[in-house]
Amino acid sequence: MIETGRLFELEDRLGSGAYGKRPTALVRGEGVYVWDVTGRRYLDATSGQGVAALGHCHPAVLKAINEQARTLVSIHESFYNDRRAELLALLDNITPADLSHFFLCNSGAEAIEGALKVAKLLTGRGGIVAAKRAFHGRTTGALSMTWTPKYRKPFQDWLPRVEHIAFNDAAAARDAITRETAAVVVESVQGEGGVHPADIDYLGALRDQCDKTGAMLIIDEIQTGFGRTGKWFGFEHAGIVPDIVALAKAIGGGLPMGAVCWRTAHGQIDRATHGSTFGGNPLACAASIATLTTIRDQGLVERTQANGGWLLDELEALDLRGVRAIRGRGLMVGLELRGRVTPVLKALQECGVLALPAGLNTLRLLPPLVISRDELGQIITAIDEVLG
Ligand SMILES: *Cc1c(COP(=O)(O)O)cnc(C)c1O
Repeated sequence: MIETGRLFELEDRLGSGAYGKRPTALVRGEGVYVWDVTGRRYLDATSGQGVAALGHCHPAVLKAINEQARTLVSIHESFYNDRRAELLALLDNITPADLSHFFLCNSGAEAIEGALKVAKLLTGRGGIVAAKRAFHGRTTGALSMTWTPKYRKPFQDWLPRVEHIAFNDAAAARDAITRETAAVVVESVQGEGGVHPADIDYLGALRDQCDKTGAMLIIDEIQTGFGRTGKWFGFEHAGIVPDIVALAKAIGGGLPMGAVCWRTAHGQIDRATHGSTFGGNPLACAASIATLTTIRDQGLVERTQANGGWLLDELEALDLRGVRAIRGRGLMVGLELRGRVTPVLKALQECGVLALPAGLNTLRLLPPLVISRDELGQIITAIDEVLG
C-alpha cells in the first residue's frame, strides 16, 4: 500500500487545489463507519456528502455491482438494456404517478443542466429564477443558479442570467415568475445554504404561480431525494408535483449517477436534443436498483421520518450554548452555530464523528438512512460534548 506521507504529498501537489481537505485519509467503509489509514474508526454523519444512504459497502449494492461488473459494465443508450429498463420501471414506481419521463446521467450538476434544457425545450422561453442561498452545482448552467458569490464570481460573465429571489418569500416569487420564465428552480430543503426547509405554503405558491404563467417548476432533490427528508422526495411534504425533478447523490448507491424526471403530460423531448455517453450505464443502473429496492423493502423512508423527528427532539433537549437554531427534515439536520463551523467539525472528528458544514456557520448532519438510534446517540453525545 502507498505510504501515508506520500499519499498526502501526491494529492497536495498533483490535485487541482479546488478542495479544502481535512488531513485524514479515509480508506475503508462499512455501514455507518469509515476507517482512516491509521485504522481509526469514525461514524460517518456525512454519508459521503449524502451519497451513501445505505451506508458504505452495503451487501445488496456490492452484490449487484459484482454481478453486473461480470455481465456488462457499459453500453450506450442507443441500445436497449435489461438493467436500464428495470431501473426506469422502479423510478416510475417510486416517483408520483404524474412523473414518468427520465433522463439518466452521471452527477447532480448534470441533472440540473438536463432539467434546464428540458425546461427550455418545453417552454421555448429564456428566463430562469432561482433562490438566494441556493446550491445547484458547479457546471456553468448549474453555477448560474447557485447563489454563493464565492463560487460564481470568477465566471460571472460566462453564465446565463438568473434572477435570484429570497427563499420562502411567496410574494417575491409571484413578482419574479412571469410568462417569460422558462423555469424556477429550488431545493425542497436548501442543503449547502444552511439546511433551510422550504415552507409547505411556499412550494404551493410556486406551484400556483407556475400554473398561472406556464413556467416549469424544477425541484432540486439531489440531496433531499430517496428518503432523506422522511418522504421519498422533499416536495411530497407539500403535496405538490413539480414539472421537473433533478436527482443524484443517493440514487446510485455510491456510483456516479444522476437523473432528470418530468411530467408525463409534457411528453418526451425531441431526438438528439440531449445525451450522455455514460448515462444509464448498466453498472450504475444495477447499483441504483439494489439501493432503491433496499430503501423501499426495508421501509427506510418511514424509518427516516421517525428517526429524524427523534434526533431533532433529542438535540433540542440539550443545552447547547454554541447553537443559535436547529433546523431539519428527516435525517437532514442543521445546527446554526454562534461561531464558525470549522473548529466544531474538527472537535467532532476528534470525538470520532464526521459531519459537514453548510456555509460558514451551520453544522450539517446527513447520516446514512440505515443508522440506528444507538448510533444516532453517539452523534448526539459528541455534539453535547463539543457544543454543550
Ligand atoms: C450536491 C448537490 C448538487 C451538485 O451535485 P454534483 O453531483 O456535485 O454535481 C446540486 N444540487 C444540490 C442540492 C446538491 O446537494
